[in-house]
Amino acid sequence: MKNKPKILISACLLGENCKYNGGNNADAISADTLDKLDQIYELVAVCPEYLGGLTTPREPAEICSNGRVMTKFSGRDVTREFLSGAQICADIARKNDCKIAVLKERSPSCGSGEIYDGSFTGRIVSGDGLTTSALKKLGVRVVGESALLELNLEKEAQNGQVDKH
Ligand code: SF4
Repeated sequence: MKNKPKILISACLLGENCKYNGGNNADAISADTLDKLDQIYELVAVCPEYLGGLTTPREPAEICSNGRVMTKFSGRDVTREFLSGAQICADIARKNDCKIAVLKERSPSCGSGEIYDGSFTGRIVSGDGLTTSALKKLGVRVVGESALLELNLEKEAQNGQVDKH
């Protein structure tokens, strides 16, 4: 009997109210896609910012040009919390042998390929969130929720390592 391979997923995409404003991002991923993901994989939900010790709701934060993560209103430097969350997520991915992570696009933790530029004006720049960077260093393939539609999920699962019992 085969166990389903595990993938890491942003908890807010599953409807957890861990987003900075106390809401979630469940509307960013269709119920059908989520259903299919759930059939093929065991979903390991993480919220790096929560795991790093930040409260919900919390001030929005972005990665600035100097690499520090700063909050929008009080200008607090929350880099330490973001790095801590990233490290915890990397440890969870390693322990669960996750080869893929489906993470919320453009977040300063979860974004992959593009993130907000630190000006809090909605401008986007190339780059990864801190958790995405930590996962990529481990060799985890990170995809945003919109890229899921382009993935052949069954094929990806076959290519991943599946525990046999
Ligand atoms: Fe979602 Fe990631 Fe932000 Fe947590 S840190 S709310 S999982 S995007």
